Amino acid sequence: MFEQTLSIIKPDGVAKNLTGNIIQLFENNGFEIKAIKKLILTKKNAESFYYVHKERPFFKSLVDFMTEGAIIPMVLSRENAILKNREIMGATNPKDAAEGTIRKMYAESIERNIVHGSDSPESAKFEISFFFNYFEII
Ligand code: ADP
Ligand code: MG
Repeated sequence: MFEQTLSIIKPDGVAKNLTGNIIQLFENNGFEIKAIKKLILTKKNAESFYYVHKERPFFKSLVDFMTEGAIIPMVLSRENAILKNREIMGATNPKDAAEGTIRKMYAESIERNIVHGSDSPESAKFEISFFFNYFEII
């Protein structure tokens, strides 16, 4: 099924100048960039975006990390975009990520793992609308 997903280059990925490499990888894998912007989240924004994790022990640390610098959210589309993006990103913990995945190549730790990707059609819908208005998605 042709679908859309939300990807974010996290503050560590932006700070390491990996934006170009990451976007290239998405384009090489058949994704079209339907929308893109660069911004800095407030703590409140980051808490809202990650509300599903609010009871987790790493929640505060995750919010601190996600607000330490600019991020680049993007709407990506292709066949099976959600699953395919998760595949290209690799496992949450870079130690478990497959060779050639973004997290295997670039991530420092389970927290500082370079990219975010929606994990279901429901989360993609919420996360896309969190960052983009319908008229910003081409
Ligand atoms: P994913 O980003 O792979 O979907 P989760 O949704 O489980 O992973 O977690 C959201 C984010 O929270 C992760 O990408 C990572 O930055 C951080 N995180 C997850 N688990 C841990 C952990 N055990 N310790 C620290 N940070 C974590
Ligand atoms: Mg997740």
